[in-house]
Amino acid sequence: MHQPPVPNVARTDPELAELINEEARRQFEKIRLIPSENYVSLAVLEAAGTVLTNKYSEGYPGRRYYEGQQFIDPIERLAQERARDLFGVDHANVQPYSGSPANLAVYMAFCQPGDTVMGMGLPAGGHLTHGAPPTASGKWFRSVQYGVRRDTGRVDLDEVRDLALKERPKVIFCGGTAIPRTIDFPAFAAIAAEAGATLIADIAHIAGLIAGGAHPSPVGHAPVISTTTHKTLRGPRGAMIMSTAEHASALDRAVFPGLQGGPHNHTTAAIAVALAEAAQPEFAGYARQVVANARALADALLGHGFELVSGGTDNHLILMDLTSRGIGGKPAAKALDRAGIELNYNTVPFDPRKPFDPSGVRLGTPAITTRGLREEHMPQVAAWFDDAIMAALKDDEAAIERIGGEVRELMAGFPMAGWAPAA
Ligand SMILES: *Cc1c(COP(=O)(O)O)cnc(C)c1O
Repeated sequence: MHQPPVPNVARTDPELAELINEEARRQFEKIRLIPSENYVSLAVLEAAGTVLTNKYSEGYPGRRYYEGQQFIDPIERLAQERARDLFGVDHANVQPYSGSPANLAVYMAFCQPGDTVMGMGLPAGGHLTHGAPPTASGKWFRSVQYGVRRDTGRVDLDEVRDLALKERPKVIFCGGTAIPRTIDFPAFAAIAAEAGATLIADIAHIAGLIAGGAHPSPVGHAPVISTTTHKTLRGPRGAMIMSTAEHASALDRAVFPGLQGGPHNHTTAAIAVALAEAAQPEFAGYARQVVANARALADALLGHGFELVSGGTDNHLILMDLTSRGIGGKPAAKALDRAGIELNYNTVPFDPRKPFDPSGVRLGTPAITTRGLREEHMPQVAAWFDDAIMAALKDDEAAIERIGGEVRELMAGFPMAGWAPAA
């Protein structure tokens, strides 16, 4: 049953309550390897489910357009202060509704429509909002995109520098959504300085690793840092923009009134809870374990002959090219899901196939590490992974079902905040 329990939803809307409970069960029973997902604590769930959702508070603490902010102001200040302390930044805006609006606000603060902007291409591992053609960032700006080297699968910093000096973008985004390697913030900062661009570090995927000391911090290198709060940072769905004092007011004005109306105060409270959790010494242990698990899983997968982009991982994420196994990313992801192993199909660099039917899958360890899995479990996960792919190639649904049962059995031994097994 979902925790906290939802008896009132069950009474007034049993159909919905059933779906909520089944989703909680699904999350409990599966090996969740989607690298952008996690399990939040009960405290985060509780804070996100409060009457704070009833309140409008356009503006910022002390400067609101609605009355009745006696308790909302200190809640938002608490979240801001905890973000500043955790990451060591001058300024934090905790109001962006999610990572994509946060990045749009960054563009709004620094660019005019038609300006040149630069980010990593989607097929190389960049995020949609870093200038991909179908998005606002690709349509409203002149987007220049950098990639990775074909031979190494890693960012080519010489290419980034050449492009930046030639195209002179207003902003350069570093970071992305399918990058298995450490991001070299000082190198990007040097390139941005030489090109006269503002460096934006989008740490959506790795914020928790940075907070826990398991990935270098962009602070001191990138004057603007955008992040989601719901990936490795293990908070509610939301986002933050952090910056040096110099850029604080431009970014605040871009978020409100530039782009958004009232902040989601229940989310702000849950962000505050998650930031306090991330400041605990145990969280550094969590971040280290996420990376250790990803390394162990990558090694085990390499042992089964799988091909990994860049040959492995430095962080929480693994990008796998399935071409040599004779299966597409999408059928593989679907078969793995039926086998209780949840991940997403993904393009790989220089992918000859279409994004909706690409060559690879993307996986990672933030969620399974929260559940308590460790290095010693990774060989078993990799073995099931291999078995499920082989079963998919042979259309052996019985084998896939057997793996799903074994996965359920393993995960039953690892508690999940948000789910109480039936008594
Ligand atoms: C997830 C992600 C985002 C967008 O976050 P949403 O909350 O899904 O809008 C932005 N940038 C990067 C690098 C991401 O990984």
